[in-house]
Amino acid sequence: MSIVKAKKSLGQHFLRDQNIARKITESLLPMTYEVLEIGPGMGILTRHLLTNPDFSVHAIDIDRESIEYLHAELPEDRERILYGDFLKMDITELYKEPFSIIGNLPYNISSQIFFRIIENRHLVKQVVCMIQKEVAERIAAPHGNKSYGILSVFLQTFYDIEYLFTVGEKVFDPPPKVKSAVIRLTRNERQELGCDEKLFFNVVKTGFNQRRKTLRNSIRGLIPPEYESDFLNMRPEQLNIDSFLQFCTELQESRKIRKE
Ligand code: SAH
Repeated sequence: MSIVKAKKSLGQHFLRDQNIARKITESLLPMTYEVLEIGPGMGILTRHLLTNPDFSVHAIDIDRESIEYLHAELPEDRERILYGDFLKMDITELYKEPFSIIGNLPYNISSQIFFRIIENRHLVKQVVCMIQKEVAERIAAPHGNKSYGILSVFLQTFYDIEYLFTVGEKVFDPPPKVKSAVIRLTRNERQELGCDEKLFFNVVKTGFNQRRKTLRNSIRGLIPPEYESDFLNMRPEQLNIDSFLQFCTELQESRKIRKE
């Protein structure tokens, strides 16, 4: 068996524990038939997934050496194992129907992966992934919590989040410097925001960029001078998703009135 040597620049930490691999793949609920694995590496999750009759699995990895290894090891599934960059792939070309994502993600680009998922939320029904524990906690954090931030708000707007379990460093080769966790995101019912998506993203980002300030101060540039709202006296972490949406909807109305 040829061993692929882990490349740090690609965020490669290969999972070595079959029980954890099974636990991760069993966390994927049969909500969609199509499944995409991001970063199969040496295929520890892939092997479990390919034998599951509930799923039709594709996997994409940016590392040519991993792909060559997997093509040699799993010749019958060659066509399912794709060489490419998840961040650049055209998701809508591969998927016309809702699908699920799974992966032990490259931690250095996990935020970028989540932003792509949000962009494609009409297709991405479920995500089961291992990420840095601290990022998992941020994503799952409720409002009022220190860890509640941009990623929590954006993801919780469209997904129900479950923190499933924590994974220590020792089950990886090479061991990462941080602890890991597995989370599950399931697309919620929200279709329309009620306000302009760009405004919403802008308010959330700008607000959390100065999270200790009240919104009145942090998003000054986004509000008409005479605009008044109780939300302006709050700090961004005090607003839950519905409050953010309500605030942005009201703000949008007032901007419209001003333009008229
Ligand atoms: N699933 C494997 C490997 C996890 S390491 C395991 O659990 O052992 C993360 C994997 O993501 C690596 O194989 C790395 O090559 C791959 N990767 C890194 N950036 C990527 C990208 N932009 N698109 C697809 N795969 C990527």
